Amino acid sequence: MSSGVQWPDGKRFAFTVFDDPDGSSEASRMVYHFLAGLGFRTTMGVWPIGPIRERNCSGETCADPGYREYAAHMQSLGFEIGYHNAAPHFCTREEIVRSFEAFREYFGRYPQCATNHFNTDALYWGSARLHRGWRRTVYDLATLGRQRRRFLGHDENFPYFWGDLCRQHVRYFRNFVYREIDTLKMCPRQPYFDPERPYVRGWFCSSEGTDCRSFLETISEANQDRLEEEGGMCVMYTHFGKGFAENGKLDPEFSRLMERLSRRNGWFAPVTSVLDHLSSIQGTQAIPAGELARMEWKWLRSKLLHGTT
Ligand SMILES: [Zn+2]
Repeated sequence: MSSGVQWPDGKRFAFTVFDDPDGSSEASRMVYHFLAGLGFRTTMGVWPIGPIRERNCSGETCADPGYREYAAHMQSLGFEIGYHNAAPHFCTREEIVRSFEAFREYFGRYPQCATNHFNTDALYWGSARLHRGWRRTVYDLATLGRQRRRFLGHDENFPYFWGDLCRQHVRYFRNFVYREIDTLKMCPRQPYFDPERPYVRGWFCSSEGTDCRSFLETISEANQDRLEEEGGMCVMYTHFGKGFAENGKLDPEFSRLMERLSRRNGWFAPVTSVLDHLSSIQGTQAIPAGELARMEWKWLRSKLLHGTT
């Protein structure tokens, strides 16, 4: 079944990536060099500041001038720079404000597109990804309540609150991730507004690819063919710092499958450009409660069975 979406310039489908910086190192830069050469223009998530306290994760941050020059260089080639919370550890509101200003200083504007890192200042994350009621109860039972009230970026009563800044600056934010290459099939109404989570102006979903192995499963030859046949959209969720480039070499299967994909008639633009295109067709509408409930159940099922992000 076709998505019915007309992609720009007669392209038959859209493919993009939001890459979270967890585990990134100089080696991951090889991935970007490779993608740029094939004509992909994707979104590279960054931490604008830090570390200023103990990290919860390895990976480069924009506090390093060399890394930020490299990110600015990728931006000059047409890649988008996205926001992955302020730093690889929790931040207070004051620090988060500083991270937005640093981002603007380095990249000429505030971020348009963002994703959560597992910081206390993550927003609508953990249990708060799901609506109150059965879905959240099932999730809380399955996770032994460990994800309850652990992420507080959307809660005005805590010093980690930055929901208002998100609403002011950020246009698109990632929530559900599915084991399906056609992200649009799992959620046709993207980007969507969720009235119960008003600090996010537009939500989007993604396709599972947390590390190289899982990325390769999602972009298999058969899945690429189906994405094109369906005229769909794929927004890959990934960490290019996790297994894509090791010992100075790119993973050969990743190279092969991405080369194959690059030869197809796809639109390979950054996440914000692709979502802007969808929004120009159907607006950013409030999602009906029943539709969101179905998406949440599908995600929850996959989370419980496969540990999807
Ligand atoms: Zn992260």
